Amino acid sequence: LHNEVQELRGNIRVFARVRPALPREASAGLATLRFPDPREAAQIELLAAGESATGTATMRNHGFRFDRVFRPEATQADVFDEVSHLTQSVLDGYNTCIFAYGQTGSGKTHSLEGGSNLSLSVGADPSNDAEAGLIPRAVQMLWNTAESLQDKGWRYDFEGQMLEIYNEGINDLLGKDNIDSGKHEIKHEKGRTFVSDTVVAPLDSPARVFALLAKAKSRRQVAATLMNERSSRSHSVFILRVRGSNATTMESCDATLSLVDLAGSERLSNSGSGTDPTRLKEAQCINKSLSSLADVIAALGAAKSGGHVPYRNSTLTWLLKNSLGGNSKTLMLLALSPMAEHLSESLCSLRFASKVNST
Ligand code: ADP
Ligand code: MG
Repeated sequence: LHNEVQELRGNIRVFARVRPALPREASAGLATLRFPDPREAAQIELLAAGESATGTATMRNHGFRFDRVFRPEATQADVFDEVSHLTQSVLDGYNTCIFAYGQTGSGKTHSLEGGSNLSLSVGADPSNDAEAGLIPRAVQMLWNTAESLQDKGWRYDFEGQMLEIYNEGINDLLGKDNIDSGKHEIKHEKGRTFVSDTVVAPLDSPARVFALLAKAKSRRQVAATLMNERSSRSHSVFILRVRGSNATTMESCDATLSLVDLAGSERLSNSGSGTDPTRLKEAQCINKSLSSLADVIAALGAAKSGGHVPYRNSTLTWLLKNSLGGNSKTLMLLALSPMAEHLSESLCSLRFASKVNST
């Protein structure tokens, strides 16, 4: 039901969202961004260095088209409006992945989680909090819809995992063991994915989800003080599994919604860390997983013809194998800074996303 329109258009979407300039950026220069056709809301142009036809360096307009482009004024509710039917399809049994991609500071975590005084506060209704991001909104909406389907005989069970991928290793953000223990393994059985020795938390209410997300966040923050802004160099993966059964019709469904806050996509040379071996290793792992993600999505686009999909090339793609292939739906949310100093990274992000978009 929620899926008819989606089906017609294939299963991979790319949205771009430009965040507003922050108060602390008030004196810095804005990049020249244009949104040529506001009604269509699918195009974005960026004025940046390029080559003229004769090969001389010049400024030129780099134009991109995605499924949707959000301007800096767009609210969290505006973004969720365009995403909600995708997250709803989990209740129909579709595995769904949402990836937030972009350089550090571009708004990935803001889009997924929300403002800094997180609307993940237990008991708060995210729809009353203008700053609540996609995760709290999606969770609340899934619960509401599941509840309304009770009349039709449906009963749903929810459970969740919160994992971090750092240097290609998996950490359980809900677990008790020390981070970086390196003992978790990914197994695929009968179309489902298991990560050994990790906590799969039963979730009986949205409040429980928000409490766990808050716990995972604080664990990441503890690690961050030890490892210097580690959250920008690791992927954080929230996996919500939804199982439903209908006693009247004997139908059932089993699907996951995965929301992934990807590591910052910025190139190492820009991070000011030079040749520090720790940073170098992190950067190599991030490059590997982000390019593997693009390769997998590209292969899936092409795989309608039955080609090989290189899931095994990174921990991220291997973990999400069952949520990326087959009947699943994928959204890449490209986060962009509006600032001139971030122009070249923004251009890299736009190029990455348009590669994904053309599949
Ligand atoms: P990332 O997760 O990509 O590193 P953040 O989500 O932490 O970036 O965003 C960087 C800063 O910008 C944060 O202070 C965040 O609150 C702010 N920010 C991001 N997007 C928006 C937005 N749409 N509206 C207002 N502030 C935003
Ligand atoms: Mg972040």
